[in-house]
Amino acid sequence: MPIHRLSISVIDTISKIPELSSFEIHKLKNIPLGYLRKNNKTMLGCCRFKKNSRWIKRNKNGKIIEKGKDFWPHGNTLGPDDVRIIDLHPDLFSESRWERLAASVLYHEYLHALGFRHCPTFRKLESLWPDVEARLGTRKVKLNSPMYNLWLQRKK
Ligand SMILES: [Zn+2]
Repeated sequence: MPIHRLSISVIDTISKIPELSSFEIHKLKNIPLGYLRKNNKTMLGCCRFKKNSRWIKRNKNGKIIEKGKDFWPHGNTLGPDDVRIIDLHPDLFSESRWERLAASVLYHEYLHALGFRHCPTFRKLESLWPDVEARLGTRKVKLNSPMYNLWLQRKK
């Protein structure tokens, strides 16, 4: 499945998850998609924010009164508009057997795009992905995932 068809199907699934209904799901389709370098050993995907997107604090008039360097010390201050690109590993598209894993990885990256880092809320939302076998999460969840294990053993 080409990357754009995959994104349409993942966004469609996200729109059916009630816990995510208050976020800017409709903006996810505007995020550019690309590929990691093929020789990337550790990552399956990466959500890259725009250079000047930093967490912000507003006063009650909506004026930005503080900006920080690191991402996400405050909840809900970043969203899909702040994302420059989401890159996925090209091998996820090399064979149809990785399709479900690719969908799950893109779901993970979209959760980052909605403003979450790897916090307990993020992990809870991650566990709502309906495809149980492809579900990612903490290291432990990942290593229990049959699909992730197949991926690790794949021939390159
Ligand atoms: Zn992540």
